[in-house]
Amino acid sequence: MTPMEACQMLVDADLSQRQYEVIRQYNKKFFPCYTRVQKAKRECYPPPESCTITSTSAEVQLQPLMDVTVRRLAEYLEEVLTASALNDQERENLTLLSKWGCDGSQQTQFKQKFENDTLSDANLFQSCFVPLKLICGEKVIWENPTPSSPRFCRLIRFRYIKESPEVINEEIFYINNAINSLTPTVINLAGAKFIVKYIFTMTMVDGKVCNAATGTTSTSRCYICGATSKDFNKLDYRNEINSEATAFGLSVLHARIRLLESILHLAYKLPVKKYRERKTEEEKQLEKERKEDIQTKFRKQLGLLVDMPKTNFGNTNDGNTSRRFFSDPKIASDITGISYNLIYRLKVILEAISSGHLIDPEKYDRYGLETARLYVDLYPWHPMTPTMHKVLLHGAVIIKKSLLPIGQLSEEAAEARNKHFRSYRIDFARKFSRESCNQDILNKFLLTSDPFLSSKRSDVKKRKLDKLLPETIDMLLPAIPNPQQSSDEENISDENI
Ligand SMILES: [Zn+2]
Repeated sequence: MTPMEACQMLVDADLSQRQYEVIRQYNKKFFPCYTRVQKAKRECYPPPESCTITSTSAEVQLQPLMDVTVRRLAEYLEEVLTASALNDQERENLTLLSKWGCDGSQQTQFKQKFENDTLSDANLFQSCFVPLKLICGEKVIWENPTPSSPRFCRLIRFRYIKESPEVINEEIFYINNAINSLTPTVINLAGAKFIVKYIFTMTMVDGKVCNAATGTTSTSRCYICGATSKDFNKLDYRNEINSEATAFGLSVLHARIRLLESILHLAYKLPVKKYRERKTEEEKQLEKERKEDIQTKFRKQLGLLVDMPKTNFGNTNDGNTSRRFFSDPKIASDITGISYNLIYRLKVILEAISSGHLIDPEKYDRYGLETARLYVDLYPWHPMTPTMHKVLLHGAVIIKKSLLPIGQLSEEAAEARNKHFRSYRIDFARKFSRESCNQDILNKFLLTSDPFLSSKRSDVKKRKLDKLLPETIDMLLPAIPNPQQSSDEENISDENI
């Protein structure tokens, strides 16, 4: 086993140094010693001087991070790059498309001392990016096989700081500055020179980040057109659109969760049919009972906990709950009493925007508007939520604006990294000082998102075409054949689209 293969196994199986040493005891000739594996690991890191570690933060300068990312990707693609029919001019004209974003999360507080009392490790704020596509003009040289998985999600920096509009805007300014100062990376492979330049889109975001970035202070206001809840059900309401705000994508993961919540909150109010009007004690009681009834039914019939606070932070409305809810519109409609048709149509829309395929904006617009009309006809007494308004009425504009299929731009990869942060901090980091702990977390992030190792991982499956609903397929643009796809995969896509 070569040291790099051992390194691959370490990442693949999530082994710690100790676990590796134990396994190695069984065959010392086969497994290289850990010092050599450590040396191989260093191949995956940017130069040490480009990392800044403090007791409350860790950061890699963007330029060296891009350089190492492209170098490792090129090592994986060596055969493709050198054998492909790129001429000299094309080789020096490669572009890497990436998505980036920032997000805050709550973390467990550790029993380590800080140098002063104002510091805390209760809240984390991090920025990361995911490389999506390496192109040369129209030619696609590499495509991220798992754009929504954290596998290629590269951490730029993390800080123990509470998310606030100021912190968000400072971060956007800081990262955009770093992006704008990037220079193309030059790679030499088998005697040939390759030059890669960069394009970033900021789509790994949630509502909080979009609101802060657009200066929207109220969560019940649309950050794209400025409409508020009193306007959401007026479908002819057309305000001027903030075109910059349409570049944030559709935040598919959060859209699904928020739509689930829209349906639930509507369902609780169904017996009383009052939105914010004054309610009698009797009506309040009715609403409360209705909520409990719905929660019990979800628990009994689907084993789902909906809309319940969690012990540490957040609530139980997560990605999995919302996915299960929309996977069966019949049961969801039976339990909530909300129109099957409406839930089904939301399912179609969610499927389209998370599919990773190109969507026809005009067809989407029509379907979205029809769905909005259905909602307003059925529930005129309850305004749509900002997310439902955004997805149904601004979806087409957002889709039109995006460089890549909207489903590939989702924020899911970054969200998963919050969970990883917790586990890496507990299981893979030294605890004797905050600095070394942060250093280890950063290294683990760099290793687990290394493009070379990630591409070679045994469980990277080629993206399978999900079984899509006929309505969803109707909304998609015909697939452009991808030169990377094998011929039998093309056959599958012909059958489905
Ligand atoms: Zn709007």
